[in-house]
Amino acid sequence: MTVAENIQGIKERIETAALSAGRKPEDITLVAVTKTVDAATAQLVLDAGEQVLGENRVQSYLEKYEVLGDKPRWHIIGHLQTNKVKYIVGKVELIHSVDSFHLAEEINKKAAALGITQDVLIQFNISGEESKSGAEPEDARRLFEELAGLSNLSIRGLMTMGPLGATGEENRRVFAGLRELFQRLQKEGYPNASFELLSMGMSGDFEEAIKEGANVVRVGSALFR
Ligand SMILES: *Cc1c(COP(=O)(O)O)cnc(C)c1O
Repeated sequence: MTVAENIQGIKERIETAALSAGRKPEDITLVAVTKTVDAATAQLVLDAGEQVLGENRVQSYLEKYEVLGDKPRWHIIGHLQTNKVKYIVGKVELIHSVDSFHLAEEINKKAAALGITQDVLIQFNISGEESKSGAEPEDARRLFEELAGLSNLSIRGLMTMGPLGATGEENRRVFAGLRELFQRLQKEGYPNASFELLSMGMSGDFEEAIKEGANVVRVGSALFR
C-alpha cells in the first residue's frame, strides 16, 4: 500500500467513526505523525493533501524543517524539555505536550519575547501509568489557575495518550476521563483557555477516541505500513 492509499483508508475510518458518534467528519483533524519516516516520505503525506505533521522530538522536527520549511502545519506532540522550547515557539502551530507550569512558563517567556501568543494543549496522564508524561488530573484546577497568568499562551484544549497495550474498554475509560476533565475545566472557565481541541487517539485506538469526543487524532504507524 502507498502512503496515499493508507491515508485514504484512515480518512474513511475517521469518517465512519465520526458519523457513528453523530459528529461531522470534517470537524476532526488528522495529525500525520512522521516521527519514524524521513522528510521525503513526509512529503508524500503533504502530496496526498494532508497539511498537519506531528513530530515527537524537537530534533526530528528541526531536521524535517530544513527540508520542508513552512509548507506543513507543524505540531509537536512529544515530551518537551525546557531547553528546547526556543527552537519551536512561534514556528509550530500547536504544542500538544505541555505538562507542567515550569514548561508553560518557559514557552510563555519565549512567546512574549517574540510578541506572539503560542497555541498549546495541556497533556494529562489519565491512565496513571508511571511511564506516561502528563499532568495529574487531580492537580488540574491548581495548574489552570497558575497558567491563567501566562498571557502569551493560548490554551486550546487537552491531550492524552491511551494506555499501552490496553483493551478497547480501558482505552474508552481513559478517553472518557479526559473528555470529562475537559468539560469540567471548560465550565470553570479560564481567561487564556478556549477548550476547543481534544487530542487523543493513535493508530491503534483513534476510533475509540473519536467516539469519546476527540477532534484531533495523532496517527503515525498506520500511514507507513
Ligand atoms: C508516536 C506517537 C503517536 C502516533 O502513534 P502511532 O501508534 O504510530 O499511530 C501519537 N502520539 C504521540 C505522542 C506519539 O509519540
